Amino acid sequence: VPSLWCELAWVGGTRPEAGVLLELDGEVIVRVTVGVKDPPEGSERLRGLVLPGFANPHSHAFQRGLRGRAQDVRGSFWTWRKQMYALAGALDPYTMFVLSRATFAEMALAGITVVGEFHYLHHSADGSPYEDPNAMGNAVIRAAHEAGVRLTLLDACYLHGGIEPSPMQRRFFDSSAEAWIERVEALSLPPNVRLGAAIHSTRAVQPEQAAIVGAWAARHSLPVHAHVSEQRAENEVCLEVYGATPTAMLHYEGVLSERFTAVHATHVSEADIELLGEAGVCCCLCPTTERDLADGIGPGAALRAAGASLAVGSDSQAFIEPLEEARAIELDERLASGVRGKHTTPQLLRALTSSGYASLGWGEGGAIRSGALADLVALRSDTVRLAGVPADKLLDGVVFAGAAADVTDVIVGGEFVVRDSRHVRLDAESELASAIASVGW
Ligand SMILES: [Zn+2]
Repeated sequence: VPSLWCELAWVGGTRPEAGVLLELDGEVIVRVTVGVKDPPEGSERLRGLVLPGFANPHSHAFQRGLRGRAQDVRGSFWTWRKQMYALAGALDPYTMFVLSRATFAEMALAGITVVGEFHYLHHSADGSPYEDPNAMGNAVIRAAHEAGVRLTLLDACYLHGGIEPSPMQRRFFDSSAEAWIERVEALSLPPNVRLGAAIHSTRAVQPEQAAIVGAWAARHSLPVHAHVSEQRAENEVCLEVYGATPTAMLHYEGVLSERFTAVHATHVSEADIELLGEAGVCCCLCPTTERDLADGIGPGAALRAAGASLAVGSDSQAFIEPLEEARAIELDERLASGVRGKHTTPQLLRALTSSGYASLGWGEGGAIRSGALADLVALRSDTVRLAGVPADKLLDGVVFAGAAADVTDVIVGGEFVVRDSRHVRLDAESELASAIASVGW
């Protein structure tokens, strides 16, 4: 597509602009002109409101197979995890591929243009490596490619079982951080795929090993992600064993930086918040998962005030609804604090777009500006949810009442991935049904 004309588009202010012409060169926006009354000849017209594509920096794609199947047990994160391990135990590289592809297609339909797949299911059922030690990671890469979304493969170093260990976890283990490096360096990445490091958590990686992963990522200027303080039990064990909170442990090991993303950061102390803010990390909240797992509510406003940026991830795929994740940053804090308006709508939109892109090592994406990647999402504004919202309030309308069902078109690198609310290559509904059936668990 050489140029796109948007009825309304958000180019970074507090309200959308009318008549925005985007000229493209390959996958990049080279010029943005606002106030262009009519679509110029040869340009593709996008109706409704156009936003930068949504980033989903924290995903475990295969967990989509759990949807609707893990709601009937009284318990906590730890009881849910048993069900998740049963699903993980049943996967092989082929079912990982079809399930991930279908999940990424669902994400594309919801407006997601870049995914950070926090990937830890590396090895065969008995824990031995596959013939290709990256068979599972390559399945995820191929899945993203076929679903048309950008991917950062956040390959997770996972070394031991931690709290309530299970024999299933041997599928996750590398023998050391050095063995993890050797495996990850053997990956070859197609276009639209980048690499990031992940330290699964302080439950699964010892301090000196976390330091090795952090130093390797620093050497290659790559993002590093880790699950941080999702659970109180995780804090307690970390304090008992290492004498530090997960955040402090990662700080002492030199892992925190602007390339670091703390996933969840739900149960962080005031001192943790200061460390995360001073280092300028990104905190990826996953509110629909945190609700689903009864994790708690992360202190988003305090983290941002301290200097961290915020992003949002679909994590367990209990729900793939990026606008719900974004508004939940504000709405969940309203419930917890009795105060409205801690986060502005543009801040919530940046959490959904540019901050997430940056946390995944795609700093040139997530905004509608010259030089940015042409990754875009168009939403209808005449649906039952948004009809009657004035054009100058449409950002508030979309962020606080919009839904994946309002998404009509999704563009990645100048190419349509979703058109007229359908994925251009895949029938996501039937792919999801058949992929989940094929796991046979
Ligand atoms: Zn996670």
